[in-house]
Amino acid sequence: MRCLVGWLLGVVLWAGTSSAMAALALELDTQGLSTAQQSASQTLLDDAMAHLPPSFKQRLDRTVSVRWSDALPAAAYGEASPVSELELNLKLLPGLTDGSAATQQTGRPHGTVRQELLATVLHELTHIYDRARLWPAEQRAVILRCQRQMQANGDVGLADDCRGETDRRFTLSDDPRLLDLAGWPQSIGQRGQREVDNRQIARSPDLYETTNAREFVAVNMEYFLLDPSYPCRRPELFAWYKAQFGWAPDKAAQCPSELPYLNAGSDFAREPLGKIDPERVYEVDYLLAEANQNWVSRWGHSMLRLVICAPAALAGRIAGWTWTRAWYCRIARSSTMYSSRPGAA
Ligand SMILES: [Zn+2]
Repeated sequence: MRCLVGWLLGVVLWAGTSSAMAALALELDTQGLSTAQQSASQTLLDDAMAHLPPSFKQRLDRTVSVRWSDALPAAAYGEASPVSELELNLKLLPGLTDGSAATQQTGRPHGTVRQELLATVLHELTHIYDRARLWPAEQRAVILRCQRQMQANGDVGLADDCRGETDRRFTLSDDPRLLDLAGWPQSIGQRGQREVDNRQIARSPDLYETTNAREFVAVNMEYFLLDPSYPCRRPELFAWYKAQFGWAPDKAAQCPSELPYLNAGSDFAREPLGKIDPERVYEVDYLLAEANQNWVSRWGHSMLRLVICAPAALAGRIAGWTWTRAWYCRIARSSTMYSSRPGAA
């Protein structure tokens, strides 16, 4: 009996140890590589591992083999298999090895060939993570709850917060919140069906992200991990990634509190790009200008008017004199009209 107890204890200890040690490993295929090529390649992979969130490495507990390939298209940096293989373009290895890749400019947002290679490794590993359905326990519970609700009530009775959760297939890229932020919103009146095309192209660092949601997640992961200004440029997406991993890069920049906006009026003497301090916004008015009594139509203008307080009003707020603040804001209001034509985009 003592032997059995000891054996069982050993199994429990082994299981605990192996799950504690389980983690992502990148294994370089060194066949045919010189010592210098192996060293440069290993440094690149170590750099990639150092940039990844701890929970990403812990959840993706597998060994991914990495090799240099001459079979990739000339313009490609790398490509991952669905589960555990990553290939990098062999033609980039000489520059990585002699160090010239670190200064050779690409004309793309990541800057140099070396940085682009690093971004590629992170991008391709994100695809593998995305396909592995590595939902944390809380997320898994939401999916199960929504699937039960779907079975009981059907499509029509599904609660709003369950739309898009019942047929999840990816760790990240079919998350409803991600799709909202990324530019694939729900179509009106279609019970959760989403727009097919992503039209948010004006401020994209890389239009490849609009190809589909899988590429969006992988491209934005590059910037979440490598670009210190990402939280300033895409704060909601930064917050989403941070929530997924319970972690954010150390070097994320402190962002200015003011928000930019475009002066789209016809007064061309005004500075085209203005700035708003959210602390000074007292009121947001929403105006519908329609030729009929309908709330929604194919034609019309909707406008936002911001009532912005004079700086002195902040002092009133701090002192708790709300009426004083309102008074300051009313007399100091400077309103700006933003218009859009819902049917014209
Ligand atoms: Zn990709």
